[in-house]
Amino acid sequence: MGEAGAGYASHAEIRYTNCKVPASHLIHLEGQGFMLAQQRLGPGRIHHCMRWIGICERALDLMCSRAVARQVSSTEVLADKQTIQYWIAECRTEIDAARLLVLHTAYKIENEGSKAAKQEISSIKFYVAHVLQQVLDKAIQVHGALGMTDNLILSWWYRHERGARIYDGPDEVHKTVVAKAVLKQYYPSKS
Ligand SMILES: Cc1cc2nc3c(=O)[nH]c(=O)nc-3n(C[C@H](O)[C@H](O)[C@H](O)COP(=O)(O)OP(=O)(O)OC[C@H]3O[C@@H](n4cnc5c(N)ncnc54)[C@H](O)[C@@H]3O)c2cc1C
Repeated sequence: MGEAGAGYASHAEIRYTNCKVPASHLIHLEGQGFMLAQQRLGPGRIHHCMRWIGICERALDLMCSRAVARQVSSTEVLADKQTIQYWIAECRTEIDAARLLVLHTAYKIENEGSKAAKQEISSIKFYVAHVLQQVLDKAIQVHGALGMTDNLILSWWYRHERGARIYDGPDEVHKTVVAKAVLKQYYPSKS
């Protein structure tokens, strides 16, 4: 994944044909590779969320720096406009909410294990990915045409982090997990 000229910075597709792996190189039992890969997904997802919060912070920082620097008239900068203030307030609040939700999930994983935190992990996976997309979109908007160029890192993030709503399970799958957990207690008992 990525673009020609940008060095294909992201993932590659690899095909193994008649590939032989020495028995001493097995990480776990033969045939258990998929199970191992699945086990890493819970903790892996929370790491993505932490990384996305870091990107959000940097994007908001760029947004605010631009808002106070960009003169829109002889007396006003972008930051004086109420719409821009709303965006900054929304981003700040959504990032803080995302961080607290991730902290809560980390607490549950640490104390009860990733299986018990399945619902929380799904919640942060789609929620923080959504916050990331919103913050990057607003940061690019505040930068105008500059935001579309590769002079800043914003457009690179916008392209590459769009995958946040797809990899490690698309939004829809995680929302189904959360909804099923919520609805469980509402179904009439079968016994
Ligand atoms: C940057 C990146 C990195 C990745 N890294 C890895 C990796 O390290 N390891 C790995 O194994 N895979 C990886 N993937 C693959 C990723 O997990 C899959 O792309 C993802 O699970 C979606 O599967 P798919 O692409 O086959 O889309 P499809 O399964 O065809 O889904 C397409 C769309 O249909 C909808 N959809 C799918 N299932 C449901 C459902 N049950 N209910 C409702 N809607 C649904 C969603 O909107 C989804 O985006 C990566 C993908 C990307 C983009």
